[in-house]
Amino acid sequence: MSEGTKGEELKKELFNIKKTGWNDVDEMQMADIQKFADEYMYFLNHGKTEREIIENSVEILEKNGFVNIENKERLEEGDRVFYINRGKSLYVAVVGKQAMENGLNIVGAHADSPRLDLKPNPLYEDGGFALLKTHYYGGIKKYQWTTIPLAIHGVIVKPDGEKIKVTIGENEEDPIFTITDLLPHLAQEQMEKKLSNGIEGEALNLLVGSIPYDGETAEAVKLNILKILNEKYGIKEIDFLSSELEIVPAFKARTLGFDRSMVAAYGQDDKICAYTSLRAILDVQHPEKTAICILADKEEIGSMGNTGMESHVFDYFVTELLNKKGENRVNLLEKVFCKSQMLSADVDAGFDPTYASVSEQNNAAFLGRGIGLNKYTGARGKSGASDANAEYVAKIRKLFEENNIKYQVSELGRVDLGGGGTIAYILANKGIDVIDCGIPVLSMHAPYEVTSKYDIYTAYRGYKAFLV
Ligand code: MN
Ligand code: MN
Repeated sequence: MSEGTKGEELKKELFNIKKTGWNDVDEMQMADIQKFADEYMYFLNHGKTEREIIENSVEILEKNGFVNIENKERLEEGDRVFYINRGKSLYVAVVGKQAMENGLNIVGAHADSPRLDLKPNPLYEDGGFALLKTHYYGGIKKYQWTTIPLAIHGVIVKPDGEKIKVTIGENEEDPIFTITDLLPHLAQEQMEKKLSNGIEGEALNLLVGSIPYDGETAEAVKLNILKILNEKYGIKEIDFLSSELEIVPAFKARTLGFDRSMVAAYGQDDKICAYTSLRAILDVQHPEKTAICILADKEEIGSMGNTGMESHVFDYFVTELLNKKGENRVNLLEKVFCKSQMLSADVDAGFDPTYASVSEQNNAAFLGRGIGLNKYTGARGKSGASDANAEYVAKIRKLFEENNIKYQVSELGRVDLGGGGTIAYILANKGIDVIDCGIPVLSMHAPYEVTSKYDIYTAYRGYKAFLV
């Protein structure tokens, strides 16, 4: 190797040189990265909705010595507990050595993903077909949800409290469902429309059947479908009123690329951070400060409602920790929050060379460059941003640098183009130091999203370093 020029040496010293993490991965680390990605894909293939993710996460927690906080009278240092909020969001804690008034270390992700929900009165017949009306959930590009295999996941709750779980379209022997689109031959008018309304919300109708009930003339296909549903699930049409049925892509999570470097899957926003932060807290034993993992619901539609991060149920969980540790006193909760720090674990827009013009490359997150920090989110002039304080950014930098965790700091897209938000501001408003810290994704919110296995493993290591 030739001696570098003085300028080159100085560059190495002074420049923030950004490069892929893959070059530093040895054979053993590669095996760890691939194994972790396989486990992540297994997790994705067994849970596509927030309810399924919470249920599966609780199972994993219980296998790792965590117990429901409601079954604990008192809490001691080292105790491992969780609280399930209505089956849709989850708070996990490992009780630390220090008093909680010194603050908590929190990693918070969300378990809900963009999808199509069924309307309360979904089933109808038209043109010899039975169809289900949907209402999309979260920010989707509607045209992406047509002509792909779809599955139905969710619950139907009867007035007597009986809860019927539905998962159909995932097993090879299951039927799948789909939303049709117009043939190009007759799409001249549609193709002239803007992409945003080429497919209207009211056109996202799920095709579910076509055989009429024998001998009937009016609504015979609808009747036949209801008969099948009645035999299979014991439900009548009115039971849709108290159901939450979600339409999700029926694809499996798969390894992507000749080099097996990426994961393609539905719902990686934000199950990728949910999984990596859950795995991180499993590894936490006897932390200095109480370690917390949040899996929130409703992030994709603004975090409202009693399972969203805006609700006070998380405050209640922390209060219960204080009560059961025998530490609580008047107004202590506010102090705990003001002393706490958090990584808001949510995905970031990865740089896509095909759509390079939406990114400013010096400040874009790249797949394979490690965990992505967003100092701020918001849109157009940082509007609505949760902007992490420089002091806190420095603290997180130090943590990652000391633990050899590759990170990149970026913002979501070009200044005037748009933006987004996460749960970060909600926790920041309580007084917690928060920074967005997640994994870059391509095709975010599409039925099939792309991530780098290097970043997945790095995020897990990063969250763990933060919590232990
Ligand atoms: Mn997200
Ligand atoms: Mn999202």
